[in-house]
Amino acid sequence: MPSFVPRSLRRAWSRLRGRGVPVVYSDRYQDIPWDSPADPRRAEKIVVTLDDAGLLHSGAASEPRPASLENILRVHTTAYLRALQDPDRLGSILGTPVAVRDVPRVLDLQRLMVGGTIQASRLALRAGRPAAHLGGGFHHARAEAGMGFCVFNDVAVAIRRLQQTRGIRRAAVVDCDVHQGNGTAAIFAGDRDVFTCSLHGAKNYPFKKERSHLDVELEDGTRDEPYLEALAHCLDMVFAHAPEVIFYLAGADPYAGDRLGRLKLTINGLERRDALVLGRCRSAGLPVIITMSGGYAPDVDDIVRIHTNTIRLAASLAPVAAPAGSEAP
Ligand SMILES: [Zn+2]
Repeated sequence: MPSFVPRSLRRAWSRLRGRGVPVVYSDRYQDIPWDSPADPRRAEKIVVTLDDAGLLHSGAASEPRPASLENILRVHTTAYLRALQDPDRLGSILGTPVAVRDVPRVLDLQRLMVGGTIQASRLALRAGRPAAHLGGGFHHARAEAGMGFCVFNDVAVAIRRLQQTRGIRRAAVVDCDVHQGNGTAAIFAGDRDVFTCSLHGAKNYPFKKERSHLDVELEDGTRDEPYLEALAHCLDMVFAHAPEVIFYLAGADPYAGDRLGRLKLTINGLERRDALVLGRCRSAGLPVIITMSGGYAPDVDDIVRIHTNTIRLAASLAPVAAPAGSEAP
């Protein structure tokens, strides 16, 4: 860890080493050279909050490595990778101007964030339990185009890697970010092995939706109870697919206080959402990879609390047996 990282975080980091829920995070996530609507301090604050709450004693943390070109190309096209060298194209995806000199650094960081989800998937399968990436969930990115702040679809890349190198065949994506996972839906459209499920605001971005294997469109102002009822129904269908691994996009943006969410879930409701998803994964004996995804509440502490609750719940789940066919990386 570089020396400029605060001492409190360095201490937290050292405590994370050991047993428990693997957490993947890089301090480089705070230092992004573009304007993000998500507070770049949130991941660091989650680590510090977990430490302050004494929840890191049995955890384990690791820093990701940038995803290799080979892994990125499991999903994305070479034409798209070439197009990303154009700062205007890159800037339009990130919603902010990108200087020519910053293109390599921006793309390095994007690859690092994909590497974080790959790393979490490796750890979840090795340990047979939840693993969390304090980043990721770039679900608007398609194979040949990015949009909505999403350059590379980290979850899709991690799934294809597991399928092509780790003997996993069937996977499922439970996307509880408030925006539809349109890129993920497009990538796995027609794929019978990867079940995509998205619960999202009907009137929210993206305004042209793709077709997931299962979409639940929620009206503006949807509250805890109808949301949780819909989610329970979705999970029945997800598990009927008999996945060997689950990717859970645990977005904080269905929260009532979110600037971009349009739903009315409480923090307690989001905690119950996590308990539903993670509890079902535990009952089915499946490893689950948690990505942070969106969260745009004006008070970053609300976002931190929501994600901290997710990881605390994950930590409370005992390890499960690793699925057949998985192997250590
Ligand atoms: Zn979102």
